Amino acid sequence: MSVESLANYESWDLTMNQLPKRSHLYSLQPIGFGTPTVESFTSYLQRLAAAHSVSIASLIRYKITPLFIQNNQPPDLLKADDAIKMLITAWHREPALLQQQSAKFWLDRTQHVFKVVSIVEKLTARRDLSFLTLLQWHSWRLNFNHIFHTEQRWCPGCYQDWREAGKPIYIPLLWTIEAVSVCPVHQRYLQLRCLYCGCFQPFLNLECHCLGYCCAYNAWLGRFFDNTAKSQGSRFDWEKWAAQSIGQIFAAMPTLSESSFSPEPQKFKYQRKPTLTKFLRWCYKLGINPHEGLQILSIIPSVLS
Ligand SMILES: [Zn+2]
Ligand SMILES: [Zn+2]
Repeated sequence: MSVESLANYESWDLTMNQLPKRSHLYSLQPIGFGTPTVESFTSYLQRLAAAHSVSIASLIRYKITPLFIQNNQPPDLLKADDAIKMLITAWHREPALLQQQSAKFWLDRTQHVFKVVSIVEKLTARRDLSFLTLLQWHSWRLNFNHIFHTEQRWCPGCYQDWREAGKPIYIPLLWTIEAVSVCPVHQRYLQLRCLYCGCFQPFLNLECHCLGYCCAYNAWLGRFFDNTAKSQGSRFDWEKWAAQSIGQIFAAMPTLSESSFSPEPQKFKYQRKPTLTKFLRWCYKLGINPHEGLQILSIIPSVLS
């Protein structure tokens, strides 16, 4: 047989594919990152628990609490004996540690939130989860007392839209902020009680992971009564503007300058720190957008754009 008559096959590419970094838990992507309706950390934890088919209480107790007490290393980086010892210690010493349901406990810019977020970032191999809390606001000159609602609020219109579009149900960080009472998308007041049983909803439902359903009777929270008549007038206009403004701030957070978070002491125009609502009222009266306001009113030292 001559050489010319042999078939010529393509050569194989034997270079190894680069495998992405492995994570201990699913590296679930936060919903709405860099938008006004970025997901809240409590919502993220509930979706993470659901993705693993465990309750949020179990996720916290078996995955987060041991690391919170001992150190920040995922258990698979430790010897098995050490991991078991950590778990037993956590179980006996602090059975109720982190079993809290308030927004303030999970979303404020405190040391323990920083620690929990760091642990979940390591477990999921992510670096963007602090944007689902107010941690990025830690150096802002605001009075953070009462910055969160004490009870979860939600927009039935958003829930219903997401369900009909086949999108995941989640809770935006925006809905947890006390100054937000209106959904900027549907331009109606957020709901506070389940229409079926009248009960409030916790920010973190420890026993259930079905977002969008009542914690007591599992009723769909996408039902609403018509409150269009209340959704007008100057007061409503202000509340809508406030919700839109806070949404704009959340959307801009990933692009804000690192220098905004510098611990360097700054000279401020005002000695007393305003509440978020007061700051927004100043912007509203001055006719400036909240981006400009953050800088002009010295809430943060500088903003990129
Ligand atoms: Zn809505
Ligand atoms: Zn209910």
